[in-house]
Amino acid sequence: YFRVNRLPHIWCPGCGHGTLMNTVVRAIDKLGLNKDEVVLVSGIGCSSRAPGYLDFNTLHTTHGRALAFATGIKHANPKLHVIVIMGDGDSSAIGGNHLIHAARRNIDITTIVFNNNIYGMTGGQYSPTTPYGDFATTAPFGNIDKPFDLCNLAQGAGATYVGRGTAYHAPMMQKLIENGLKNKGFSFIEGLSLCPTYYGRKNKKGNAVKMHTFLKDNCVDVKVLEKNPEKAENKILIGEFYNNPKPEYTESYQVIIDKFQNK
Ligand code: SF4
Repeated sequence: YFRVNRLPHIWCPGCGHGTLMNTVVRAIDKLGLNKDEVVLVSGIGCSSRAPGYLDFNTLHTTHGRALAFATGIKHANPKLHVIVIMGDGDSSAIGGNHLIHAARRNIDITTIVFNNNIYGMTGGQYSPTTPYGDFATTAPFGNIDKPFDLCNLAQGAGATYVGRGTAYHAPMMQKLIENGLKNKGFSFIEGLSLCPTYYGRKNKKGNAVKMHTFLKDNCVDVKVLEKNPEKAENKILIGEFYNNPKPEYTESYQVIIDKFQNK
């Protein structure tokens, strides 16, 4: 039903973005959404190439501004399922303002961040999610900034569905996207990805297989922690963190317009 455009992709060997893109397509397919009612919007970066490889309605926009374009699309036609794919720098540095305000409004957009801890496309600069002390092209002596927890940021700003998966935990990632798409409001799903070319090489993380193994060994599902809280120590939390529907922005906006016009 869904078709991947027959373009040769230009992601590096071992990049995690292809797996994450696959989970997006599978989630849309599993929910049986009509392709004509889905729009994929992206900004700039390695992650933002993903929609271009798909046979959907897609919009490739400017760096950090995907959510601004997506907000316009959703306002113009609230029936559409609007999905935004961004990278970590794209979403939380250049586009950080759009992220917090889209979350605050609780507009019905499913936002998926492919987080590889670094700017890949532009040459390996550190981003707001590069771990403290890690190396990047622009942090040759180690990063001194404290990284964002993107899920905490989105939830704090008002997102009504929040979760984190990884390129290793693909079935979980797909399920989180499905649930995000079902939420009538702003959904934020972070997908931990791999950039063997820059983050991996600069931090001596080994090849893509070793980076996948790291995700396998160092992530723990929040569901497991309910029974075994001691398993949280030094682990990356994954799974569904927050699911609390609230009034959605375009619907609330329509109520106000209707009231005004009826006066
Ligand atoms: Fe993937 Fe990194 Fe290559 Fe970009 S630079 S395609 S994120 S491996």
